[in-house]
Amino acid sequence: MAESEVNLTKTYDAIVIGSGAAGGMAAHVLTSHGLQVLLLKAGKELPIEKESRSMEWPYGNAYSGQLPPDSHSLSFNEYTIRNPPYGLGFEKAKHLKSYIGSNDYLKNIVVDERENPFTGTNYAWVRARCLGGKTNIWGRLALRLSDYDFKAKDRDGYGENWPISYTDIAPYYDKVDLYLGITGVKENLPYLPDSIFQRPTKLNCAEVTLKESLAKMGRVLTQYRAGVTSDGLKHNKYRSRCYGRGACERKGGCDIHAAFDSPTGLIYPAMDTGNLTLRTNSVAREITVDPRTGKASGVHFIDSQTMKDYTAHAKVVVVAASTLESARLLLLSKSRLHPNGLANSSGHVGHNFCEHIMGPGVTGRAKNLVGKTSTLDDGRPGGFYLTRFRNLADKNPKFIRGYGFEGGGGCTMFPRGTDAHGFGVAFKEEVRKNQGAFIGMGAFGEVLARYENYVDLDPIVKDKWGVPALRFHYKFGDNEHRMAEDMKETAQEMFEAAGFEIVHVSSRVLTEGWSIHELGTARMGSDPKTSVLNQFQQSHDVKNLFVVDGSAFVNASCQNPTWTIMSLCWRSCDYLADELKNGNL
Ligand SMILES: Cc1cc2nc3c(=O)[nH]c(=O)nc-3n(C[C@H](O)[C@H](O)[C@H](O)COP(=O)(O)OP(=O)(O)OC[C@H]3O[C@@H](n4cnc5c(N)ncnc54)[C@H](O)[C@@H]3O)c2cc1C
Ligand code: SF4
Repeated sequence: MAESEVNLTKTYDAIVIGSGAAGGMAAHVLTSHGLQVLLLKAGKELPIEKESRSMEWPYGNAYSGQLPPDSHSLSFNEYTIRNPPYGLGFEKAKHLKSYIGSNDYLKNIVVDERENPFTGTNYAWVRARCLGGKTNIWGRLALRLSDYDFKAKDRDGYGENWPISYTDIAPYYDKVDLYLGITGVKENLPYLPDSIFQRPTKLNCAEVTLKESLAKMGRVLTQYRAGVTSDGLKHNKYRSRCYGRGACERKGGCDIHAAFDSPTGLIYPAMDTGNLTLRTNSVAREITVDPRTGKASGVHFIDSQTMKDYTAHAKVVVVAASTLESARLLLLSKSRLHPNGLANSSGHVGHNFCEHIMGPGVTGRAKNLVGKTSTLDDGRPGGFYLTRFRNLADKNPKFIRGYGFEGGGGCTMFPRGTDAHGFGVAFKEEVRKNQGAFIGMGAFGEVLARYENYVDLDPIVKDKWGVPALRFHYKFGDNEHRMAEDMKETAQEMFEAAGFEIVHVSSRVLTEGWSIHELGTARMGSDPKTSVLNQFQQSHDVKNLFVVDGSAFVNASCQNPTWTIMSLCWRSCDYLADELKNGNL
């Protein structure tokens, strides 16, 4: 949309910053309440179908699907050996991408590390500055949190409880399920509540073997709960139902939008209301404040292409730039009335930063499947989820909180996990014979929210647009390392109990940030001295300011966060709309 179509003399009801899971949901809910909304987002609107090319075969791609030679994507070793900003030392590469930008389908979606530097401790920070943000490429595992998470402090005494319970958010999880579509199977687990599921995917032979063996141990393996519509959505003309074409594995997006992405799931329908104005290429630089009232008055932004400065005005500002970018924006918005940054009288903005630890896992071979006919196992948006089993009824002596495993088995377009060596006909035969027999899984565990894990602004380094970069002060702690040790041991035990031959056990902990589930930098709470937002993600300090992304999380739990981000956001935006109509903002 041309910049002239954004009326900068107008006072919008709300400006939403960001167009990912959170910003898209805010745009959907606020426009459906009839509010006039301006959506600002840092990057461009990419023709995502042309980027993801879900039906392209590797031989149809100039680089067999790999990155072009002028680009480089950071590897695990490079994250470990080098310090941020990561641009230095990679001068031969014209474009430098995070580890996730390692193929031709993602190269334009994830940001260039050189244009978007950060400093401090090592961190694999994956960012997508395009319409829809990271939802264009997310892994789609869509899980709910429960009171085991919201009231975790009551169970083990650590950290803080959330100011809400499961009953507060459950109706909003239901709304998100029905509006966006989710596949899965009901399990009736108190610690992992069920969604309103559409048709589930099927487990394959090795996965069923594992499920049955785990059931004897009292553990639960369930079908991947995917944020994908398998039955279709009559109310959404932009999305098709899943045809099980398998491109999900490539993390290059779904070009028929069966997998949820924010543009087709939320933003285009919001535009159809006539209440949404979208301005892409708009890098928010600061939330402006009325010096008389201390309230938010609008957003100062830079056009990422022309480098020109603009200010847009609104009655309410909704920050949804993703957990770390939102903290950065609040810290950048210093003024006489808010000298530590906006919404930061508690000093907690940027702190209590948490996420998931990843790395430990196992690969095995189901010997009874070696030599069997190939099956179409990757024609589905996910394999299985093995739910948390630690610190539920029991108390583990070594660590608090828990972890779950994501995994899958069977045949894929590119045979995985094969340990065959050699070349020629014999090698091909060996790969073919074994490929359907492989099964693997990797763990995601809760990283405790700690005040001393935080981000602030770097005093020297700036990004391409002259905006101060974020500086990380973030490390996994002892609880995480003890948990990772347990993940490795239980992964191996469970595969052995299922009768799989162990091919590989990984004990390596991946670099901080690898899970791409960063959370907690503006946590909610009842006490304004120790939290930034109230239960409706409204700033304690500035009542017409809302921060509706993962920043608001009080702890990370071990479940993937996106479905919770969107459910919380829906709840908060319903409240916002009521408060605005009642003249309380
Ligand atoms: C490969 C991958 C796999 C994943 N798998 C899963 C999964 O299986 N399950 C799960 O729950 N989650 C998963 N995630 C995480 C999920 O994508 C995020 O939780 C979700 O996208 C967060 O939504 P968000 O709106 O906070 O941020 P984003 O989706 O990142 O959106 C942020 C938006 O803010 C904009 N923005 C940033 N800074 C500015 C600024 N200064 N001015 C204006 N706009 C700005 C960006 O352009 C973007 O539009 C995965 C992510 C990736 C990358
Ligand atoms: S398997 Fe389904 S959700 Fe995944 S890319 Fe294919 S159509 Fe889309």
